[in-house]
Amino acid sequence: MGLPLKSGDWKESIEGISCFFEGDDPVQGHYVRDNPPVKSVPPRERFDVVVVGGGISGLTAAHGLRDKSVLVLEKDRKPGGAAKRKEWNGIKYTLGPTNIRLGYDVELNGRRFDFLTPFFEEVGVRWSKIREPTDALFIKGKLVKNFLGEGVDDLPFPGDTKQKFREAWGHIESFVKSSDCPIVPIEANGAKALKLDRHSLGDLLHRFGPEVGKVVDLMSRSMFGGAAHEISAFAALSYLRGEFSGAQYGAPGGTAVLAERLESTLGDRVRTRCIVASIEQDGSSAYVTYLDEDHKPVTIGCKAVIYAASKHVAPKIFRDLPAKKVNALRRMKFDAYFVANLFCDGTVYDDSFGVYFEDATFTDLAVNDWMIRGGNKSGKQVLSLFCPRGVNGRPELLSQSCGYWLPKILSDLEKHVPGSAAKVQEVEICRYGHHYAVPYPGFITGDRKIIKKRYRRYLFAKDDTQGVPCFESAIWSGMKAAEEARLKLR
Ligand SMILES: Cc1cc2nc3c(=O)[nH]c(=O)nc-3n(C[C@H](O)[C@H](O)[C@H](O)COP(=O)(O)OP(=O)(O)OC[C@H]3O[C@@H](n4cnc5c(N)ncnc54)[C@H](O)[C@@H]3O)c2cc1C
Repeated sequence: MGLPLKSGDWKESIEGISCFFEGDDPVQGHYVRDNPPVKSVPPRERFDVVVVGGGISGLTAAHGLRDKSVLVLEKDRKPGGAAKRKEWNGIKYTLGPTNIRLGYDVELNGRRFDFLTPFFEEVGVRWSKIREPTDALFIKGKLVKNFLGEGVDDLPFPGDTKQKFREAWGHIESFVKSSDCPIVPIEANGAKALKLDRHSLGDLLHRFGPEVGKVVDLMSRSMFGGAAHEISAFAALSYLRGEFSGAQYGAPGGTAVLAERLESTLGDRVRTRCIVASIEQDGSSAYVTYLDEDHKPVTIGCKAVIYAASKHVAPKIFRDLPAKKVNALRRMKFDAYFVANLFCDGTVYDDSFGVYFEDATFTDLAVNDWMIRGGNKSGKQVLSLFCPRGVNGRPELLSQSCGYWLPKILSDLEKHVPGSAAKVQEVEICRYGHHYAVPYPGFITGDRKIIKKRYRRYLFAKDDTQGVPCFESAIWSGMKAAEEARLKLR
């Protein structure tokens, strides 16, 4: 593997199209990973709670503790984690998430409640319905809109294969509509739903044949970073519940507006460019040590730590975790992923909000100007292409330049949408070295529980403590960690 390429300082131009990296900078994280453990220094500040990681989960936890002294430490230049958006020629575009489910009722400990709607209201975020068609599929050279619904009739397959698709989607819908359908939060599920974690999404659908399998793989790789046979049926169904149960919601540039609102209400309680390198505790306090921009250690004392950051470096950062937890953390699998944003002079695609592609570097794309009220009048477009690379894709993702990906992306898009390459002016590639903790079969009912469990002054959050990578998981895990921290502060 070559040297990891840094974000920001890498730009190249191929046949007049400039291409550059954005997002996760591997150099910082690898500095912590590859150097001897960082020693703490005498604490120069104290807080009730320090939250490590300023993604949706960490920001939600800090929001829940805003009446306490709380500090969020975030390694990037901007909080939000995966939930970030930028702007090009007046078009807001996403670096990751595109849509969200609105609030829904869950039953837990004898109580029925909706944990999302009041939270969105409190933070002041309003979601808009994504207009139809939300989904489409390029298959065998044909564009099929609403392929999860009435579009099945238009699939370029013989009648018996179309029937298999109908049956497969019907099978998913029967789960989605049943009271035993998996749901976030995981704690609200009964034994029947949890049993699904023993199986993969592939197990559930393989009897519908290879054509259905290929399409389900595309969706699974885009949503979870792994093919259907690698993903827990529990995780897949709890996510598909949103996709199959009606309208989808979002905002211009995806769903990052939630992170932006939380960041603005938290103000200077969020400290960026601070990579946490060591966490330890004694009988009376916990100590979080981060490296500042000059790689100098700064230690902060606190009563509780909420760890809402990536788990792959956790065994290195925490000094005193029990072996059982360390082993569970080491068994986690992370996929590599990138999102390529294509800045286009002219309209390349506007037949649906999202569209899947067979046999391409990317699984699907989202049209960012789809959410502009009154339509896009700029004549320009930003398309977000989702490019999962799998659990073995990290070396390629870290060592290859933008110029390696650019021709692959453009020629694959040209194959499906002739004339598209000529309209692309610039390409921004946002890399996720450890994109998702892959919810493999057995993870949610097994290692996830160990990883999530509190250890003295350490509390664990982030979407992976729910096992389903989505906003609901990140929000719920943040809320729960804030509640647990309050108990610690008593
Ligand atoms: C490409 C993509 C598309 C997606 N699409 C959707 C979608 O359409 N709908 C949906 O619901 N969900 C979607 N998701 C998932 C959703 O975005 C995530 O589940 C959610 O944002 C996770 O939030 P989090 O806070 O749990 O984790 P993260 O967003 O990963 O936040 C973790 C934070 O910790 C920081 N950090 C890591 N290590 C350290 C350290 N040592 N010190 C300090 N800080 C550290 C990171 O920089 C990051 O900011 C998508 C995700 C991606 C990447």
